[in-house]
Amino acid sequence: MAKFIFVTGGVTSSLGKGIIAASLAKLLQSRGLKVTIQKFDPYINVDPGTLNPYEHGECFVTDDGAETDLDLGHYERFLNINTSQANNVTTGRIYQTVINKEREGEYLGKTVQVIPHITDEIKRRMLLLGDSGKYDIVITELGGTVGDIESLPFVEAVRQLQWEMPEEDCMVVHLTLIPYLKAAKELKTKPTQHSVRLLSQEGVQPNVIVCRTEHPLSDEIKRKIALFCNVKPNAVIEAMDASTIYEVPLKMLEEGLDVIVLKKLQINGYAAPELTKWRGFLDKLNYPKSRVKIGLIGKYIELQDAYKSILESFIHAGSINQCKVQIVNVHSEYITADNVAEKLKDLDGLLVAPGFGSRGVEGKIAAVQYAREQQLPFFGICLGMQMAVIEYARNVLGWKDAHSTEMDTATPYPVIALMDEQKKIRKKGGTMRLGAYDCDIKENSLAFNIYGQEKISERHRHRWEFNNKFLTDFENAGLIPSGKNPANGLVEIVELKDHPFFIGVQYHPELKSTVENPHPLFVHFVQAAKEFSDRKLNIKPEKLEKETI
Ligand code: GLN
Repeated sequence: MAKFIFVTGGVTSSLGKGIIAASLAKLLQSRGLKVTIQKFDPYINVDPGTLNPYEHGECFVTDDGAETDLDLGHYERFLNINTSQANNVTTGRIYQTVINKEREGEYLGKTVQVIPHITDEIKRRMLLLGDSGKYDIVITELGGTVGDIESLPFVEAVRQLQWEMPEEDCMVVHLTLIPYLKAAKELKTKPTQHSVRLLSQEGVQPNVIVCRTEHPLSDEIKRKIALFCNVKPNAVIEAMDASTIYEVPLKMLEEGLDVIVLKKLQINGYAAPELTKWRGFLDKLNYPKSRVKIGLIGKYIELQDAYKSILESFIHAGSINQCKVQIVNVHSEYITADNVAEKLKDLDGLLVAPGFGSRGVEGKIAAVQYAREQQLPFFGICLGMQMAVIEYARNVLGWKDAHSTEMDTATPYPVIALMDEQKKIRKKGGTMRLGAYDCDIKENSLAFNIYGQEKISERHRHRWEFNNKFLTDFENAGLIPSGKNPANGLVEIVELKDHPFFIGVQYHPELKSTVENPHPLFVHFVQAAKEFSDRKLNIKPEKLEKETI
């Protein structure tokens, strides 16, 4: 039987509930327990797949093709496990299920209501992963802030579960903010008291209070929070701002969060935390021996959450290379053929980001051309790969009007075109080519050198693809299709020979990079950027040692 931990948030959003939940999960995992995390989001979209990145940050995709909240990315990166469709549930999905059942007549004769029908469906989904028998502990992060109208049914479901389950099988961790008033030079506990009171009014008494704070909490403050929030003083956990999210598990370990949780859940005989790899990763991250500047060319750069997994992948790859990767955000909308050299001249590598629609694509194409011609390491992801194909068509094959039919339906050279299976699709939600697909890699290619194997599987999220009608022309002109889907021949990887590092991938490698398994494409791209930088400085490049962390 699995045990359940619920993580709620109070006072304000953006406190990092996902990171606290993932850190707790990491600590429990490091003590030999089988742990998973799921996120319940109170919004009405069935999933975040149709949301603009400006609204909700990156959309994370799982192996089984679910479009999910970006916190699932943190869960995977921390725990080195795969999540799935079941790990992210929204109000929209809950209502969809209940309404479908109502139409099928499952509640015949009854009025369908929030309590019990919606709360029953929430509870069923909260317990689902626990029922699989695969986990000792299921952590559920509740999106939103306590007091929001939307989150009421979720809090009510937690209340009912707490009431139904033996006391040692279920607990609530509440994350809150302790603001510091500069003028008074004081940390203030009142917002926390109010948010815990709000939660109690909804019937849920938290067992642990995790306090985000910019200053250390004195014992006196901890006692005060404990007294007013009705928990023991050792259940008040200080969560000071950390220099990197990857420090948070160690901070929570120091504070004893995992031990309090294990005691409350009456889990005995747990092992000492095994965090050797994690600490090794942090050591290398904190003491880099070199530095590179990588340009991230995108149109959502104002919001860093839009490229979350890419940024985290660079942190993983930087650590293993003992290299500080400095990301230089370059807005694709403002790049032109005239200013591209000036904008990109200081870089050691260029990553052209995924995206949708025509805004900023000409800037991306100009950036690819610069990287190709200047022998600057280039890495294109999804739309970035498509832009590389268009650039090659226009400037090497000489097809000036080549384009993707996503941006120009009338182009005479539709080198990127809609997949056949996509042509008849009208609905937007969940209808892209989503999730993991196999890819066969050409021997003796750069991709083969990077992956060290012929068969890989990577995650996708796109509608358009390389148009195989033009494949021979591209091959004759020197663009190598070094990865293909074995089932339908779709080109998944393109690369160039006479270039130190030029690779574009139709899939999203950033979705599979974790602390313990940095993605090889990012690892080698950083290595190539280091070599580029060394060449600039005229230093003999070191070979990348094949080491594991
Ligand atoms: N807009 C492109 C497509 O749908 C690329 C998508 C992406 O970059 N994720 O094919």
